[in-house]
Amino acid sequence: MSRLKDLPKNEPSSCEEDVKSAIAACRLRGARMTQLRQTVLTALWEAQRPLGAYEIRELLSETSGRAFAPPTIYRTLDFLCEQRVAARIESRNAYVACTHPDHEHTCVFLVCESCGDAVEIENPKAEELINEDAKRLGFAVKRRVVEFSGCCAPCQQTSQRL
Ligand SMILES: [Zn+2]
Ligand SMILES: [Zn+2]
Repeated sequence: MSRLKDLPKNEPSSCEEDVKSAIAACRLRGARMTQLRQTVLTALWEAQRPLGAYEIRELLSETSGRAFAPPTIYRTLDFLCEQRVAARIESRNAYVACTHPDHEHTCVFLVCESCGDAVEIENPKAEELINEDAKRLGFAVKRRVVEFSGCCAPCQQTSQRL
């Protein structure tokens, strides 16, 4: 997954810091971060794009040499989503690391239909408007994920060149 900051892709040190701060945010909320939870979260950060549960399972078996049952992976992903350090992109049935795990927010993803990349943006003003509407309707919000699908800038350039 790309971030708004213009970081070079797969820069290990920056990703390590991101994972550390996400883990710290979970611990602050009293969540138990098991080795598996940390490993899955790291895999999401390192991938820099949305990953499906089966892809994650394969990645983990490759790196650890262990086989994980799909329900174990799903439970771990559910936990990370509940902790708001990851989010599920429904349209792709895939998971991404949340780029702002330290505070409660609506994850807004711009998902590219060509390359599958997902960029997370945050818009407190839009969020406030939606929260107000939900409140007015007496709706208790549990999960906040908004998706916009389309074509990312690099893919648009590629298609123009063809
Ligand atoms: Zn988020
Ligand atoms: Zn794209």
